[in-house]
Amino acid sequence: MLPTPVLPDAVADVLADTRTLARCAAGVSAGGPATAEERAAWLTGLRLVIDAAEAAFTSVLANFDANGDGEVLHAAASTQSWLRGALGMASGEASERVRIARTTGDLLAAPVAALVAEPHGSHSAGGASETNGHLSYEHLRTIHRTARALPPSARPAGVEVLAGLGSQLGIDDLRSAGRHLRHVVDPDGSARHAEEDFGRRWLSLAPMLDGMHSIDGVLDAETAAGLSAALAPFLVPNGPDDTRTSDQRRADGLAEVVAAAVRSGELPALFGATTAMQVEVELATLTGERSHPARIPGTTGSAVWLTSDAASRLACDASVRRLLVDPNGIPLDLGREVRVFTPAQRRALATRDGGCRFPGCNRPSVHTDAHHLVPWARGGQSDLVNGLLLCRHHHRAVHEGGWQIRPDSSNEGANGALHFQGPAGQQFVSPLLAARLPGARAAPGP
Ligand SMILES: [Zn+2]
Ligand SMILES: [Zn+2]
Repeated sequence: MLPTPVLPDAVADVLADTRTLARCAAGVSAGGPATAEERAAWLTGLRLVIDAAEAAFTSVLANFDANGDGEVLHAAASTQSWLRGALGMASGEASERVRIARTTGDLLAAPVAALVAEPHGSHSAGGASETNGHLSYEHLRTIHRTARALPPSARPAGVEVLAGLGSQLGIDDLRSAGRHLRHVVDPDGSARHAEEDFGRRWLSLAPMLDGMHSIDGVLDAETAAGLSAALAPFLVPNGPDDTRTSDQRRADGLAEVVAAAVRSGELPALFGATTAMQVEVELATLTGERSHPARIPGTTGSAVWLTSDAASRLACDASVRRLLVDPNGIPLDLGREVRVFTPAQRRALATRDGGCRFPGCNRPSVHTDAHHLVPWARGGQSDLVNGLLLCRHHHRAVHEGGWQIRPDSSNEGANGALHFQGPAGQQFVSPLLAARLPGARAAPGP
């Protein structure tokens, strides 16, 4: 590091105050925030301090760079290298700081006070506007990035417009305004840029060693908006027992969206095969005599294995074929494909149940599986008495999560109330709502 110059009085005073603040905030000195309101007020105030300091830093840096001070003082090759040597900044950050100072420099050459204006002349926390009337470093970065994408002749005016907007808008809105500005100022460039952006899309689905898969990628705005809208309903917890994280709900939502697309029958078929997932499972596994894992045959020779519980769940609501094999596992005969629940039975279940039957769950029937109280492989019928609708999350809770479903004693099976018992002994009763029965009148309100 290069020798540190003596701090100017104004900066030394701020630094002393900031150290006092830090001690209070950390609880080392008295006067720090103790309540939720005080913590919120502290965060608001500290953000103002940080933003004002960032604006001052950028302003001084713009002058430092324009005058070549790094070279004059320390024979630094560039302002970037001075920032790296004197302030210990990483090269990426140093370069970005200098670029932002250059773009917004003219703006900051005007009184910095204009950019860090006090919110409506007061120190109140939580002002009326999103930014409290000042620009943060993130604002400057957004202005810089937007301006860089404009034709050179339009940059000064663009910076001015964005700075004016930035003092009233949050970062997301400022970015959106910046995109709009680009479309207006440079329609051809925007169209070209949109094409380049679209070329950056990618999606990878890679198997991991344990059979889980990692998904990663970059989507264009239109596809991302469609996917977000499709996943949005699944981000809402479905009932008081739903302990999944929001990321887990998003992953489950993707499974539901894929399942719904497959069920729709509108996806293109590959080489004449249906898009549905194929699973190979022993009958003894489905009858519960054995618990051999089931196999998802891979298209490239590799296979993925499923637990016997997962196989039983999938078998609840699937098309099945009998596959006879010899003692060496060589296929001898393949039977006809039969749907476990026929489309008509599925419709009858949807009419009766309306959606997931799990107590407190509100998933509609399009996003449910049909579950057998007694598995069909053990002689259970695929009918209204033995069948009920469960969303994927609750179907999994029953097959893999230790939940048990028992009809009440009235011999109506799933046409009557159902008792749900959890692995920790939790008990819920799910009545069959009369309003759900065909021809029934709506139940009177409370
Ligand atoms: Zn089931
Ligand atoms: Zn459910």
